[in-house]
Amino acid sequence: MKTEEVVEKLKQRFPGQPEYIQAVTAVLKSIEDVYNRHPEFEATNLIERLCIPDRILKFRVTWVDDNGKVQTNNGYRIQHSNAIGPYKGGLRFHSSVNESILKFLAFEQTFKNSLTTLPMGGAKGGSDFSPRGKSNGEVMRFCQAFMTELWRNIGPDTDVPAGDIGVGGREVGYLFGMYKKLTREHTGTLTGKGLEFGGSLIRPEATGYGNVYFLKHMLETRGIELKGKVVCVSGSGNVAQYTVDKLIQEGAKVVTLSDSNGYIYDPDGIDREKLNYVMELKNLYRGRIKEYAEKYGVKYVEGARPWGEKCDIALPSATQNEINGDEASTLISNGCIAVSEGANMPSTPEAIKVFQEAGILYGPAKAANAGGVSVSGLEMTQNAAHLNWSSEEVDNKLKQIMADIHDQCVKYGKRTDGTVDYVKGANVSGFMKVAKAMMGQGIL
Ligand code: NDP
Repeated sequence: MKTEEVVEKLKQRFPGQPEYIQAVTAVLKSIEDVYNRHPEFEATNLIERLCIPDRILKFRVTWVDDNGKVQTNNGYRIQHSNAIGPYKGGLRFHSSVNESILKFLAFEQTFKNSLTTLPMGGAKGGSDFSPRGKSNGEVMRFCQAFMTELWRNIGPDTDVPAGDIGVGGREVGYLFGMYKKLTREHTGTLTGKGLEFGGSLIRPEATGYGNVYFLKHMLETRGIELKGKVVCVSGSGNVAQYTVDKLIQEGAKVVTLSDSNGYIYDPDGIDREKLNYVMELKNLYRGRIKEYAEKYGVKYVEGARPWGEKCDIALPSATQNEINGDEASTLISNGCIAVSEGANMPSTPEAIKVFQEAGILYGPAKAANAGGVSVSGLEMTQNAAHLNWSSEEVDNKLKQIMADIHDQCVKYGKRTDGTVDYVKGANVSGFMKVAKAMMGQGIL
């Protein structure tokens, strides 16, 4: 297998899908050596079977807005691979959603889920519907309409969706309600549910907490403490909020948060009280991060990202391609020593190159943010067994999973000089399990 040839063929077959091609290229580059040591893989064209999703469902979602106007959106579910378990991955509701973005996310999810060591395949879905600025009633009607199309294709042992950008507890609740009504079954078919109807404790916290646990393991390899470090976090949604929560517990100082309109810089650090305000602002009032700057009298920069601010550590937690090569260089020249990705594919290929050449600690998304789907996997287990674990039990399992993921990255990514290539480690480890499962199941 030659990465360039495979990628070129995919580009011809799937034109106009830059995010998908970007994600595939990054993975193939880092697994090429290992793949080519297994001629049995090439003999079954494993690489194309792995890069092209099993199935793409695309449907129209029709709903009525508050003015009585009938609206339509595109709905999707990309079932990428169920080689190691039922399809599993979030739903994204955002105006930017298209097939390329969901294909990249489903592809990445397959390897991420493999890394968690839990039996979950990879999927992703969503819609170009954005809940921002919509009333509760509109969001509910949209979620219900979305589920009337999706429900036939999902199930506790088939495909288990969850949240992602624009899909939090409220949306999962509405989606689950309609699923339950249509199937007349109360099964764990969605994760991220409310605690009262099958949700797991620590699920909202899991991605952010998991990223900080992973970061701490990376720092430990160089004998560096997290306490006292200055951290830039982007985003202000689910992942960003619980990243800040854990960083406060660890004694780090978070100086930035953002949304798609701009970022705030708080030189005194975001403390517990300020974080509570952000959670209320974002989760209850669905406000903008600008309001933080107005309330606390700090700097707000419209239309910009926070990477120009001086920090020791950067934790991108908003969206894909949110750190470009120039921003990565700025982070390095400002003394940044570690980047750990809460968002999926937040660093462009140029930014990754800058981080790797500078020799800083760089934790790629599929390892660093795998805590979210891991606790989703634990939610599936609890639902199937009809039991609930305590916060402490789930958090301990999450800590163990993040430690195991870090160990796997070290095992497969250790360089001859003793440092770790986390990109290679995560990709090779995630890939090998899926590849072996596919080989064991025949040509499908
Ligand atoms: P939320 O919808 O809760 O928050 C997303 C945040 O990112 C918001 O602050 C949003 O701002 C901002 N954002 C979204 N799109 C853009 C954009 N194009 N440019 C700038 N800012 C943007 O989503 P999550 O916190 O759940 O997800 C954040 C990232 O983490 C995503 O990449 C997601 O795939 C990834 N992730 C999430 C997991 C989870 O468990 N939730 C698990 C693993 C990864 P605004 O309000 O203006 O839209």
